[in-house]
Amino acid sequence: MKNEMFTPHFSLLEFTESPTARKHVIANVPPAEAVDNLKRLCENTLEPLREALQLPVVITSGFRTKALNDILAHASERSQHMAGQATDFYIGWGQRLKGLSSRELLIKAFRMIIQNDAIDYDQLILYPTFIHVSYVSKEKNRRTILLGMRNGKLGYGKCSVENALRIQ
Ligand SMILES: [Zn+2]
Repeated sequence: MKNEMFTPHFSLLEFTESPTARKHVIANVPPAEAVDNLKRLCENTLEPLREALQLPVVITSGFRTKALNDILAHASERSQHMAGQATDFYIGWGQRLKGLSSRELLIKAFRMIIQNDAIDYDQLILYPTFIHVSYVSKEKNRRTILLGMRNGKLGYGKCSVENALRIQ
């Protein structure tokens, strides 16, 4: 697969590389439509976040073919990852550069996505160690905030903006 720069800080290969896909010998190649969606996600969500934070946004899981999505135990059957509309990430170089823990940096990014008008999103999920975010289109984005962990279990509790901004 040929690499392609989507925005100054994000390229296609970051969203298709998957250790799980490699282990199971799955070619994790996105169709053209998913590539277009990934580009939109970078332009409207990830690059504005990267710019506001001034810290690396490290992609851990981006595009997933159905075969890859089926293998991942926690993945939803209707996952937006399969359309190239969603990605999981954490913030890199935290403690070293800003004196914040990885969790504090994750919370900072989470709040920034909610509060910064330059950053658009469809669905935002905060997990203990990473963030899941998706982008569809200006018209179709639902702006839903969810918590990926509740009572020690993986759940999808909906969260108001007010409550989301109180999470530590
Ligand atoms: Zn995800």
